[in-house]
Amino acid sequence: MRAPVFHGVGQPLRVETVSDPEPGPTGLVLAVRNCGICGSDLHASEITDDTGGMRPLRPGTIMGHEFAGEVMAVGSAVAGRFRVGDRVTALPFIACGSCVACLNGQGHRCPAVVSGGFGRIPGAYAEYVRTGVHETLPLPPEVDWRAGALVEPLAVGLHTVDRARLQPGESALVVGAGPIGLAVSLWCRFMGAGHVIVSDLSRERAERSARMGATGIIHAAKEDVVAAFKRQCGRRPDVVFDCVGVPGSQQLAMDYAPTNGRVVVAGVCMQPDRILPLKAITKELDVRYVFGYGKRDFEVTIDMLARGRVDASALLGDTVGFAAFPAAFEALRKDKSRVKVMLEPD
Ligand SMILES: [Zn+2]
Ligand SMILES: [Zn+2]
Repeated sequence: MRAPVFHGVGQPLRVETVSDPEPGPTGLVLAVRNCGICGSDLHASEITDDTGGMRPLRPGTIMGHEFAGEVMAVGSAVAGRFRVGDRVTALPFIACGSCVACLNGQGHRCPAVVSGGFGRIPGAYAEYVRTGVHETLPLPPEVDWRAGALVEPLAVGLHTVDRARLQPGESALVVGAGPIGLAVSLWCRFMGAGHVIVSDLSRERAERSARMGATGIIHAAKEDVVAAFKRQCGRRPDVVFDCVGVPGSQQLAMDYAPTNGRVVVAGVCMQPDRILPLKAITKELDVRYVFGYGKRDFEVTIDMLARGRVDASALLGDTVGFAAFPAAFEALRKDKSRVKVMLEPD
C-alpha cells in the first residue's frame, strides 16, 4: 500500500510503498477513507529527545489517528463481529479488551495497550490501517467519511467538557480556537453553558467558533481577556479551558479564573512550564487535566453526529490526496489558521 512515511525531524513525509497491514486473529483492516492531521502529529514529528515526556518518532513511522474507513478484513477469531464493507471509525490504539480498564471502556489505561500512529502500530496516513475489534465502532449512514474522521477530536472535546463538571447556565471561557478549542466550545454549548466565549490571538480563528457553539469571541491580541469577558457576561467565567498547551498558557488560564473557579487543561504542553502556585492557591482553584477519552465519548459523539444534534462541519478544511499530503502537512507547521486538513487516499 501507499503511505506518507516519517523519516526524520526536518524532513517532509515521503509517500512510499510499504507492506499492507494484516488483521491478525483479533483485529480488523480498514481501507482508510479520511484521516485528519492532528497538532499532536506535527508536535511528534518535531521532537528530538524525550525530555517533554514523549519519545521521538522512529524513522519509518506512519502517523494518523483520526480516521474513518471501510472494513476490508476481519480476524479469524472475531469473525462475525464486523463484516467486510462495514463503515467504521476506531479509537487509535489496541488494548486487551478483557481487563478492568478495558471493560470500563478505558482501553487507553489497559496495561497491554499499544497506541496507533506514533510508532507502536502504524496509523492511518495510509491506504489501509489495522484496528482492534474492541476499539472499532460502526458509523451510521448519516455520518459521512469526513465527519467520521472528526469523531476522535470531537471525543477529546467531549471528555474535556465532562472533566469540567459544567452545570447548565454556567459560563465558559475557551482559550485557543484550534480544533480542540472548537470541539470544547461545541460541547459546552451542547451541555447548556449560558455563555461560551472563545478567545484566540487570531481574530479569524476566534470567529470560526461562532459556528462551533461560541456565543461570543475575544480577540486576545487586541483585547484584555478578563475585561472583555466581563463586558460580555457580567462576571468572570465559571470554567476556563486551556486549549493552547504552550508554556505560559496554564498560568493565563489561572489568571483568568475567578476565586473558586475551575481550570481544565486540555492543551498538551510538552515543554517545562512555570506557574505561580500562589495565584491558584489564593483563588482556591480546581485545576483538572485531560488525557484522551473513553469508548463512551466516541459512542456519544457518533450518536449525536448521526442524529444531527451536533454539527462539526466548521472544523473541516482542505482535503488532499497522497501526492499533496506531505506539502499540506508541512504547511500546517507555519499556518496555524487552518482547521482540519484531511487525507483522502486516492
Ligand atoms: Zn489528535
Ligand atoms: Zn485491557
